[in-house]
Amino acid sequence: MVAGNWKMNKTLQEGVALATELKQTVVNPKCAVVIGTPFIHLATVAELLKDSPIKVAAENCADKVSGAYTGEVSAAMVASTGAEYCILGHSERRAYYHETPEILREKVLLALENNLKPIFCIGEVKEEREAGCQNEVVKAQLEGSVFNLTAEQWANITLAYEPVWAIGTGLTATPDQAQEMHAYIRSLIAEKYGKQVADDTTILYGGSCNAKNAAELFANPDVDGGLIGGASLKAPDFITIIQAR
Ligand code: PEP
Repeated sequence: MVAGNWKMNKTLQEGVALATELKQTVVNPKCAVVIGTPFIHLATVAELLKDSPIKVAAENCADKVSGAYTGEVSAAMVASTGAEYCILGHSERRAYYHETPEILREKVLLALENNLKPIFCIGEVKEEREAGCQNEVVKAQLEGSVFNLTAEQWANITLAYEPVWAIGTGLTATPDQAQEMHAYIRSLIAEKYGKQVADDTTILYGGSCNAKNAAELFANPDVDGGLIGGASLKAPDFITIIQAR
């Protein structure tokens, strides 16, 4: 899978223009293609892409079902737009909006209950990598928010390993660092759900992945694609990354 994360970029009109450009070129991709857009784009972009192989993701959803939560958008509301995926646990949401493992556990459950497929992000910060405790951090993030799921629920989960020090910094993990962590994550899934489920789980790499380095990252056996921030905002770059998978 190659998934884009537009973050808080693009007006509705700019988003429609980008989605239209992608739709024209991405007609028979060799992998799943998803674009994560701001909430206000979802319904329009999902309608625009309904006959396209490109699927649409929200970048977040509420941890509550419905009711008096001004400004929030529920998983049911996201699903009603035609979006099929929901990015959850992004490091920016954890850091700036104080999303805890418990909150994320609720969000994942609500997304699944509403037939949304979570793209669940995990990854260590720079200090944790420097201290050599990245494995413990990632394991705790999985145990805190998604290892409570049944194997049936797990089948709808995509993971994205996103070292926080690599996001938007131009500091990409080396292919070896990515492979090492992805293999470790897969071993944790195998311990929890068995080898077949682990082999079937899509684990994306995210963090300054771009048109130049995507092929080298994706060549690793445990790197099943990418979650792409900055480079998903320009159609030619995003298309080159899709073709690298
Ligand atoms: C992201 O935010 O998910 C991401 C990977 O960003 P970037 O590609 O810009 O580092």
